[in-house]
Amino acid sequence: MMDATLPKVAEPRAFDSVLIANRGEIALRVQRACRELGLKTVMIYSEADKDADYLKAADTAICIGPASPAQSYLNVPAILLAMELTGAGAVHPGYGFLSERASFSEAVEAAGAVFIGPRADAIRTMGDKIAAKRAMMEAGVPCVPGPDSALPDDMAEVSKIAAEIGYPVIVKAAGGGGGRGMRVVYDASALQDAVLVTREEASRAFGTPELYIEKFLEHPRHVEIQVLCDGQGGGVWVGLRDCSMQRRHQKVVEEGPAIGIPPDVAAFVGNRCVEACRQIGYRGVGTFEFLYENGEFYFIEMNTRLQVEHPVTEMTSGVDLVRQQLLVALGYPLEISQDDIVCEGHSIECRINAEDPYNFIPCPGLITALHLPGGPGVRVDTHVTAGYRVSAHYDSLIAKLIVHAPTREQAILRMRRALGEMRIEGVSTNLPLHREILQDPAFSEGGTDIHYLEHWLAARS
Ligand code: ADP
Repeated sequence: MMDATLPKVAEPRAFDSVLIANRGEIALRVQRACRELGLKTVMIYSEADKDADYLKAADTAICIGPASPAQSYLNVPAILLAMELTGAGAVHPGYGFLSERASFSEAVEAAGAVFIGPRADAIRTMGDKIAAKRAMMEAGVPCVPGPDSALPDDMAEVSKIAAEIGYPVIVKAAGGGGGRGMRVVYDASALQDAVLVTREEASRAFGTPELYIEKFLEHPRHVEIQVLCDGQGGGVWVGLRDCSMQRRHQKVVEEGPAIGIPPDVAAFVGNRCVEACRQIGYRGVGTFEFLYENGEFYFIEMNTRLQVEHPVTEMTSGVDLVRQQLLVALGYPLEISQDDIVCEGHSIECRINAEDPYNFIPCPGLITALHLPGGPGVRVDTHVTAGYRVSAHYDSLIAKLIVHAPTREQAILRMRRALGEMRIEGVSTNLPLHREILQDPAFSEGGTDIHYLEHWLAARS
């Protein structure tokens, strides 16, 4: 079904070249999908990235500023200028940087190009966690217990709400992100301070003092659902991923499917997610993130972009998510329906970072030697080569190692084998940590919660 030819629907192509407003492995991933569809690519780069090999994959590469992200990959006027100079008809934002900034989507479309992602209003709704929660509740997506409205100023009212939910509760900033702007409260005496401090932080860091409160779940897993919509009424969910292996809200290992979840429960929640997308006129790929505890799903947020861990879903479903993003942006209705989605086998992804494996301090520097694993069921998404210099200016992700096998057990054996083959010299990486995780009995058993890795690290040191 995912063949090399365009779908038969005769729609005029809205663009024939794509500016990739990102860097590193995801820039290369997007370039590859564009090339397979016959689309030309423009890559932007900062002065720090000017010698990177992956830029050679683009038809055009254009420098947009100095190393600092604010002056380059977040520099909207410079990116729009690059778009104009190169005549790119569309912009793919990748993940991070400008990918979830509604005003960027608007600016690209105002300049006459296609933003490869949802419309600005959908990004805006999902970026406001209260609005997002309300939209989800309306669509019947299960949410964490707590009101879908902002906390009042009156502390007596707030105490009443918290007591109704039942402690522990979590106070969260409506505009929060990246694991910041939230506080857990275990009893009533600590509530007022938590609200005041979080409100202060929210006004300073997220530009809105709005807070909300919900039940704090103590031992959840992180389970997420991938969706894909054409914005014309067509939409599918493409399986579940488990990303519970995290440290400080940063995912370290991801896998799919999420084990131990009955297929009918997964299908019920998946269908509700697609329904929510229809209701907000969602276009493109997106991810609904849930906490999963005692057999129940609790929505926490929607990411309105491609995720780092999207290959896990591609490996199990056979759906090329980036290709689908491009087709939807070109105006094609989805060529797949829910019945076409069949996830097979098991996939695991390890995020390989240039950092100390145990204290997580980034280790930028020159990669002097690189040996990538291969063989059946192994995929490596990376932009680095021997001779590549890992910059201190950007995140430390240098490669994603992904495996696929018929069963989870075989996928674990395959990942151990692939990690054993992988060799990176010159910079310190977290390969040793991944090798240990893949040998861990609890990981092998599966279903560990989101605190597991941090406890394991604490016990180890
Ligand atoms: P962000 O946008 O900052 O990533 P999220 O709402 O996705 O914020 O929450 C980030 C993390 O905080 C979650 O992955 C989870 O670990 C924790 N968290 C958020 N809400 C709750 C909750 N109600 N109960 C327990 N943990 C929570």
